[in-house]
Amino acid sequence: MSDKPCIALIAHDQKKTEMAEFAKLHEKALSGFRIVATGTTGGRVQEACPSLDVTRLKSGPLGGDQQIGALIATGEVKMLIFFTDPLTPLPHDVDVKALTRLATVYDIPMALNRATAEKLIDFQ
Ligand code: PGA
Repeated sequence: MSDKPCIALIAHDQKKTEMAEFAKLHEKALSGFRIVATGTTGGRVQEACPSLDVTRLKSGPLGGDQQIGALIATGEVKMLIFFTDPLTPLPHDVDVKALTRLATVYDIPMALNRATAEKLIDFQ
């Protein structure tokens, strides 16, 4: 396993294009991380940036958010970039809440929108 720090990337459906653009723009900074992502988001990031090391977990509604939460609880994931969609009802809303709660409990840097993600990635 690589000794790079691990970052988690997730984007809700209406935000996936924005996540792919964000990843492309920051491909160099992201290359300093091992990336874990929910299934579809990971596919979009990998497609936009084939050079990046992306591990795709389950899709969010099928447990991917919870897998990332577990990786935060075990100390594996050190940073979370999560482009949430506040305008669309989600079947897995409780998982989203649980994940952001764990990121707060374990006090890892967490960006829930593009503006904050731009600031966070600039500090890396
Ligand atoms: P996805 O999951 O990347 O597999 O779409 C993200 C989500 O909707 O929670």
